[in-house]
Amino acid sequence: MLYSEMAQKTAASEGTLFHMNQMGHEQIVYCHDEATGLKAIIAIHNTVLGPSLGGTRMWPYQSENDALKDVLRLSRGMTYKSALAGLNLGGGKAVIIGDSRKDKSEALLRRFGQFVESLSGKYITAEDIGISTRDIEYMAEETNHIAGLPESRGGGGDPSPVTAFGVYMGIKASAKYAYGSDSLEGKRILVQGAGNVGSHLVELLSKEGAIIAISDIHEDKVAALAGRFKLEVIQHDKVYESPMDIYAPCALGATINDETMEVLQCDIIAGGANNQLDDEIRHGAMLIDRSMIYAPDFLINAGGIINCYSEVIGYNRDEAYRKTEGIYNVTLNVLKTAAEKRKPAQAVAIDLAIDRIDAIKSIGARM
Ligand code: NAD
Repeated sequence: MLYSEMAQKTAASEGTLFHMNQMGHEQIVYCHDEATGLKAIIAIHNTVLGPSLGGTRMWPYQSENDALKDVLRLSRGMTYKSALAGLNLGGGKAVIIGDSRKDKSEALLRRFGQFVESLSGKYITAEDIGISTRDIEYMAEETNHIAGLPESRGGGGDPSPVTAFGVYMGIKASAKYAYGSDSLEGKRILVQGAGNVGSHLVELLSKEGAIIAISDIHEDKVAALAGRFKLEVIQHDKVYESPMDIYAPCALGATINDETMEVLQCDIIAGGANNQLDDEIRHGAMLIDRSMIYAPDFLINAGGIINCYSEVIGYNRDEAYRKTEGIYNVTLNVLKTAAEKRKPAQAVAIDLAIDRIDAIKSIGARM
């Protein structure tokens, strides 16, 4: 069942177990430490294919419920992402409630690492929004169940360049499907978010001669990129009405929603942000009605998890890039199947992921 169907059936007053039951989660761990101010939630969605792996996000959520909703959706997305990428990993994710610019400390991160360790490897953590490679090193003082360590410490380093490469493959495959050629030369691409993924993506797109527009809520991030590449800067509240061929969301999720669908005009939506569709069913259908091609987020942003998986089994950067390149063919296949079946691409990609999980479950594979 898709999340929006569940959400419609879900009264706001329902508790965590109800949501877990609806979305199929195995375990939720609430973490609290008064001394460091840590408030975190770890969500383990599914471990059929292997241990759950997914980054930790630090964000100043307005409420505990917002944090729970985010971690439930993100961890479920990780299950599908790893399954579709052919990895032997399950889906998990963690959120720390707080402002990463103000509330982070070594003690808080290490305390969080202790909570990860307490799960004995059932959940492996890594970077996400608000959590840097340095922060991962602090967590690694307390747990071995970690990915995203610097290369100098035997890890794969920041996964963002590999994520951006996968997103680039997804954009090219979408262009091939939409225009008959995967060349991005002269295509106007709006990258929303000048963070880790967005900035590496800009570099790849600029090498190919795309016309790039960039937007971020933090001017310093945009300025840093604009100094290196030829870019048009778009105010963050003017993104959706801007002219563009391709929209690449690389900031937060849910940017495809009722409001933005009123004004957004583009041929392709393909970016790195997780959970781009606010409502998978309604907005997936709206995209079909408006003939917009949507490359499912969890399919094309899998480069980061592929890099992390490589770290878990013995890091090999070339192999991580080679596997990430495969996103091109899977995206093309999903888009073609979606058109043939007149189904949203997101639903087609989820079906493929679930098929793999069910098939592996049926053979009782060793982990
Ligand atoms: P980041 O924190 O480095 O960058 C996010 C950027 O978005 C920041 O610069 C922030 O200022 C900006 N931003 C926030 N709200 C915005 C808005 N409304 N308009 C414009 N800009 C806004 O994070 P990241 O690592 O680049 O990740 C970006 C997205 O990609 C996230 O959704 C993340 O979950 C997803 N993702 C990242 C990876 C990875 O390897 N880093 C892997 C898979 C998915």
